[in-house]
Amino acid sequence: IGYMMVSYQTTGSGNCLTGGNQSMIKLKNVSKVFTLEAGGFTALKPSNIDIKKGEFIAIMGPSGSGKSTLLQLLGGLDLPTAGTIAVDGVQLDRLNEKERTLFRREKVGFVFQNYQLLPMMTVAENIALSLAANKTPKAETDAIVARLLREVNLEGKATNFPAQLSGGQQQRVAIARALAMKPLLILADEPTGNLDRKNGEDVLQLLSRLNREEHITIVMVTHDRHAAEAADRVITLRDGEVVQTVLEGAGLK
Ligand code: ADP
Ligand code: MG
Repeated sequence: IGYMMVSYQTTGSGNCLTGGNQSMIKLKNVSKVFTLEAGGFTALKPSNIDIKKGEFIAIMGPSGSGKSTLLQLLGGLDLPTAGTIAVDGVQLDRLNEKERTLFRREKVGFVFQNYQLLPMMTVAENIALSLAANKTPKAETDAIVARLLREVNLEGKATNFPAQLSGGQQQRVAIARALAMKPLLILADEPTGNLDRKNGEDVLQLLSRLNREEHITIVMVTHDRHAAEAADRVITLRDGEVVQTVLEGAGLK
């Protein structure tokens, strides 16, 4: 029991206890049906997926195959129609709305194709959003923001607005924002989709380093086979179904 508690409480700091074969994500018979259409539309067929702590997973598949739907479920942004989802031992489908919001803020960093930065806020304010929501004191917030700006190689951009940055820089701000609460898990939906080769490469290298050095579990949706090579494993979806799980980039990391 003692070990379990220590292990649980320290997982956020990315130490070695997070390694090994511990489960980070466990989906049992998870499906998602959207009910806008008559009879409903099945975006995800009953799926069983296991992701271990410290893994870097790429999710691939054609447009409309359910990749974003799956990512939303993994992050507690949406609830499954059936089945159970456990993330770091927390059963998401049993949480109420407020508990899910807290879970997301404390455990998950989201990164999107279009960055989703708030345009009227500076880079520093965008990065500090979750810290503000968590009532982190100002001095501590400033120190965290400064560290994160260094980490994503954007020192000197704290007071810029998103529109003043390149796409690659904006995505690195989004990653810094995702890191602010020391997430166990980063969920990235086509993070390089809007970027040119060079900027996409920088973002992939940053994600790889966070996975390798800070032991953050990463699940990344991507269309790009080259991007998928950064991952340990590729899960392929087709028409809402997991059709393939292969070891991909093993050895490239
Ligand atoms: P992908 O990310 O692989 O392109 P999505 O997960 O976004 O696919 O969507 C899978 C399917 O579910 C698509 O056919 C899409 O139109 C449908 N879908 C996604 N979100 C909704 C929604 N909120 N309401 C109704 N249908 C949706
Ligand atoms: Mg999508």
